[in-house]
Amino acid sequence: MNTVEIGTSTVSNFIDGQLVPGSTGRTQDVFNPATGRKARSVCLSSAADVDAAVKSAKAAFPAWANLPPLRRVRLMNKYLALMNAHKDELARAITAEHGKVFSDAKGEVERGIDIIEFACGMPQLLKGDFTDQVSTNIDNWTLRQPLGVVAGITPFNFPVMVPAWMYPIAIAAGNTFVLKPSPIDPSPSLMVAELMREAGFPKGVFNVVQGDKEAVDAILAHPDVQAVSFVGSTPIANYIYETGARAGKRVQALGGAKNHLVAMPDADPEKVVDALMGAAYGSAGERCMAISVAVLVGSAADKIIPLLVKRAKELKIGNGMNDATEMGPIVTSVARQRITGYIEKGVAEGATLVVDGRGYVAPGHEEGFFLGPTLFDHVKPGMTIHREEIFGPVLCCVRVATMEEALNLINNHEFANGVSCFTSDGHAAREFGRNVQCGMVGINVPIPVPMAWHGFGGWKRSLFGDMHIYGEEGVRFYTRQKSIMQRWPDSIGKGAEFQMPVSR
Ligand code: NAD
Repeated sequence: MNTVEIGTSTVSNFIDGQLVPGSTGRTQDVFNPATGRKARSVCLSSAADVDAAVKSAKAAFPAWANLPPLRRVRLMNKYLALMNAHKDELARAITAEHGKVFSDAKGEVERGIDIIEFACGMPQLLKGDFTDQVSTNIDNWTLRQPLGVVAGITPFNFPVMVPAWMYPIAIAAGNTFVLKPSPIDPSPSLMVAELMREAGFPKGVFNVVQGDKEAVDAILAHPDVQAVSFVGSTPIANYIYETGARAGKRVQALGGAKNHLVAMPDADPEKVVDALMGAAYGSAGERCMAISVAVLVGSAADKIIPLLVKRAKELKIGNGMNDATEMGPIVTSVARQRITGYIEKGVAEGATLVVDGRGYVAPGHEEGFFLGPTLFDHVKPGMTIHREEIFGPVLCCVRVATMEEALNLINNHEFANGVSCFTSDGHAAREFGRNVQCGMVGINVPIPVPMAWHGFGGWKRSLFGDMHIYGEEGVRFYTRQKSIMQRWPDSIGKGAEFQMPVSR
């Protein structure tokens, strides 16, 4: 993987099996968030660059779709081995551009690898249904066929894992793929492209087009893109869904989140605090499944808040490449400013700021985009910090009297990505799981990200579209069903039939 080791030059596109510079000359700076310094830049592609990638993917499609699934997944297996062999380089590249701690970045790569392993089972997943003798001498079967060129548009916060929710399944199912990653951390996608090439995927099967809105709009408008998978914030997810659907594309668009963790009075406070520390402040809160609201039921609040305050103040913040670091910097200075603005709003709207992360400076990294963990108590529904996604290391505690009040609070929220309940009462847990209006539920599990074969997705304004991403829903998204009914000439000879066919 020598050619695309993370470097200092401009990060390019990967089209038709090779690195290609963007045609516009437009670029965006890429920073190391821990140092606050520009590390490289990335090209911002035009509609012509997108068209070149789609053309290459379209040309590759017929032969790729026609290749027996077992031969397609033999290449996927080689790619799987390469991903396993290069975990550390990928994780280092993630930390260098995103800022999350190295062990977390490696965990991200591993969760991406899970999906590649799942996609290696595609021959089994593509198996159709067959009914012998639906009518005399007639058989009927269904099969799933790939769509053609499909595209993925992905966010900054998981530059390896989120694209891997998409392309391994799409490609193993016989599609060809165009990825448009976030320009904030573009390098890992090129490393992935290089590994795909090394695994032996034919040129055009996997392409990367770097860029911003211009490239996204070109994908949405391109007549040869059959389907779009998107993961990012809710306003953009909504836009992608509406624009893509209007252009006749199949679209799944996963949006933002406001994930609640309910702590019942019978939950072990130490365990709740461990869960909240990792889920709220891990990856500086920049996870779509981060817990950003703790709902403390009854006496739970007075046990949990003092422990949380102590632990938040002890959190080790610094460069994600240092082994001791528990929380890295915020991804950009603009994001840090946005999060700081939310903290100011929380104070202005009357929440109690018990730990204030503003103004945190990491020793030796004075220019880095750091922010300390922030903890609010007495947050009320309706406050901006409860309504909106902050996407930073800010945990809002809401005190409620009962489980019913906790459920109402969650079920009335516009987001419904993930949710968690900590309790030692099996009945309460069961009631919670059945009645909560949310796509992914954890019982004594703070971040219930489903495994590769279960599928991932929220409800309400956390997902636009009909299907969850990856798992069997992912296979369905990237394929369409065909039903074939077959009769052979020996059985023909009755002449024209004008009645609706029925089984005889
Ligand atoms: P974002 O919405 O800003 O960007 C996502 C993608 O859309 C990027 O590729 C970006 O270049 C592109 N984009 C940005 N603005 C655009 C515009 N105006 N028109 C067209 N395209 C545009 O999201 P982000 O800041 O990169 O990522 C964080 C967000 O993603 C959070 O809201 C988080 O909750 C969400 N997210 C959701 C999930 C999920 O599974 N539901 C997973 C990860 C992240």
